[in-house]
Amino acid sequence: MEKGEIENRCHVVVLTYPSQGHINPLLQFAKRLLSKGVKATLATTHYAARSICAQGVGVEPISDGFDDGGFLQAPSAEAYVESFRTVGSRTLGELILKLQETGSPVSCLVYDSFLPWALDVARERGIFGASFFTNSASVCSIYWRVHRGLMALPVPPEPMPVSIPGLPPLKSSELPSFLAAPASYPAYLSAIFDQLRDLDKNDWVFGNTFEELESEVAKAMKGLWAVTMIGPTVPSAYLDKRIKGDTGYGGSLWKPPSDGYMKWLGRRPPNSVVYVSFGSMAGIATEQMEEVAWGLRESDQYFLWVVKELEHGKLPDGFVNSIQEIGLIVNWCDQLEVLAHKAVGCFVTHCGWNSTLEGLSLGVPMVGVPQWSDQPTNAKCVEDVWGVGVRAKSDGSGIVRREELKKCIREVMEEERSQVIKRNAIKWRELAKEAISEGGSSDKKIDEFVERLLNV
Ligand code: UDP
Repeated sequence: MEKGEIENRCHVVVLTYPSQGHINPLLQFAKRLLSKGVKATLATTHYAARSICAQGVGVEPISDGFDDGGFLQAPSAEAYVESFRTVGSRTLGELILKLQETGSPVSCLVYDSFLPWALDVARERGIFGASFFTNSASVCSIYWRVHRGLMALPVPPEPMPVSIPGLPPLKSSELPSFLAAPASYPAYLSAIFDQLRDLDKNDWVFGNTFEELESEVAKAMKGLWAVTMIGPTVPSAYLDKRIKGDTGYGGSLWKPPSDGYMKWLGRRPPNSVVYVSFGSMAGIATEQMEEVAWGLRESDQYFLWVVKELEHGKLPDGFVNSIQEIGLIVNWCDQLEVLAHKAVGCFVTHCGWNSTLEGLSLGVPMVGVPQWSDQPTNAKCVEDVWGVGVRAKSDGSGIVRREELKKCIREVMEEERSQVIKRNAIKWRELAKEAISEGGSSDKKIDEFVERLLNV
């Protein structure tokens, strides 16, 4: 069927939670659908919609009740979630109706699993509903097992491991932090369980991962919960190169100060720079920032470190002046461009799922310094399942000390182990490319999805 004909018959609205770690994969999925000829519209809050510009994908705002400042305007996290649910449901319903009335009827709503109420909106409007998980399948399967009573809480204390089908034994410090310490994050845990409650009522459940990457977990979940793996949702220029002009996500909530950091990278030898980022959320403990700072300073490697504006005050006194040409601190950068640069030899990451997938897809060895949420489990997989890096160990107070960071950077960049890690990194980079290239496992799943929408 010609692309134009598909577009006339198939319109998918993709709804994303307005944070960077959610916008990137969902927007990228929308672009992938567009490349298959589907008409794709991204819906998100007014506040985030202003920052999104992706060629060909329509962007439509809905309301979370805080149109000027989003989450930061809300009196509390609970108030925000509740407002998003009520105002978001109403305005999303209105949007789908508007699209229907303006001659562009929607066939399917692909919604961020973080916003589970969207399934009711799809049902009310009589269209397909598909949940999209932005975590790994491993992490989702752990949550799923707890939710269905197949894994008990509280988890056994260290060093006793928990056995989960498809994964190596996991100690409590390697589980998602919401499970390791459920009492610390009751609201987050109940939000996660909300995403799983009506899972079986979805027409599809998508995961930003690929079959080869999590094959053991996929096998273990067979017959229990069918996740359709369609990732990695990394811009095409870094993988299959089939989508013309798709060189970046196109939805950055912050802009890099200039391209000075790319020029700086350009002056460094191949594989000589440690790139460091703790993701988009900020919130690193001051003591941890200090240890990372001095660890980098003493590691004898060049480093490029993303420190968000809010965190600058946590840098130790005298640090910035002491790093001169060795290190560069930026408020934000184009992470993919940096990871793809030949000067970068190591990625010190908090192991947010997007960063982990980006490191894997671009073949960059990683040092995991996980903070919370799913990050400890991602870091465990980086080291013990995929062998593409190491996980830095924290001390009794939960801080990764500078000596440990230096040791990990050495292991990944210099020591014998670095050769094995580099080989694995290249292997996974190639497998990621294959998965999303024509005929690859994820590509086929996306084709099947489009096919089914067309055959209604
Ligand atoms: N990112 C970026 N520039 C930066 C830091 C992060 O573009 O300076 C992007 C990164 O490429 C990733 C996203 O922000 O796609 C962060 O998502 P992740 O899941 O890794 O972490 P989160 O921010 O959700 O903790």
